[in-house]
Amino acid sequence: MVKIAVVGSSSMDLVVTSEKRPAAGETVLGEGFSTVPGGKGANQAVAAARLGAEVTMIGRVGDDVYGSTILKNLNVNGVDTSYVEPVPDIASGTAHITLAEGDNSIIVVKGANDWITPDYVQKASAVIKDADIVMIQQEIPVETVEYTARLCKELGINLLLNPAPARLLSEEVIENATYLTPNEHECSVLFAGINRTEVLKKYPNKLFITEGEKGVRYFDGMIEKVIPSFLVKAVDTTGAGDTFNGAFAVAVAEGKSYEESLKFANKAAAISVTKFGAQGGMPTRAEVEGSLT
Ligand code: ATP
Repeated sequence: MVKIAVVGSSSMDLVVTSEKRPAAGETVLGEGFSTVPGGKGANQAVAAARLGAEVTMIGRVGDDVYGSTILKNLNVNGVDTSYVEPVPDIASGTAHITLAEGDNSIIVVKGANDWITPDYVQKASAVIKDADIVMIQQEIPVETVEYTARLCKELGINLLLNPAPARLLSEEVIENATYLTPNEHECSVLFAGINRTEVLKKYPNKLFITEGEKGVRYFDGMIEKVIPSFLVKAVDTTGAGDTFNGAFAVAVAEGKSYEESLKFANKAAAISVTKFGAQGGMPTRAEVEGSLT
């Protein structure tokens, strides 16, 4: 079993469905309400755990009912939460999602995720040292991403940095990360004004650009390759990127080649888009190995 440490966010999505979106100062009656555990860190941790990795999350929750629900959900999915400490008197991270008029509007409140500081990660450095690969995203403070990347480099531990949501990265962080997995939008923000092929050539076997239903693109040192995604009937693509990242981390940590790892990740992500919800559609190992051949 490979060991994965995830340094990242966890949150509760509070989803309201309504026919009409309220204007400023207006009150409308909604139709439905649900709470769904999310956050890119937690999603990627769950994706990797379902695929058979031993996953430890390094994160923080709030001192509220959402915090205990988030922890319970991680545990149910087999994620070790010994390093997810509640922050006293602070709310858990939340995403306030309104689904109305055929579109969504979202307010994200970072809450306890802002307390994932470099010092906090340093206290969990034993877990990082012991990991086959570390995963990190950008819903946590920028100093923490920088610190973790430096720490992984010093310790010689592979780091998969999923630069989502889009935010500029220093050359040092890019250098310290082993793998970078932006989607097309994130890639255009990170490397604005530079031609895609040029960027790929600059980061061979490091930069893997996910291109939705087209698949994933990278430069293997010799040629630019696209590993195509699997053809499925997409029902809900939320969490496709998180599933892809969790699966890619598991596969490379197991020693699979890049091509094999990307195929495995594409397959896991394709299965995930056939079901509703970010975590709801994340497949088990048996599901990935048993279908879409
Ligand atoms: P999201 O924000 O929806 O979670 P993302 O924007 O981070 O995703 P994408 O590039 O859209 O990332 O998708 C990640 C991977 O998921 C793709 O490389 C592909 O393997 C898979 N994928 C996404 N959409 C589809 C689809 N419609 N059919 C099959 N596979 C898909």
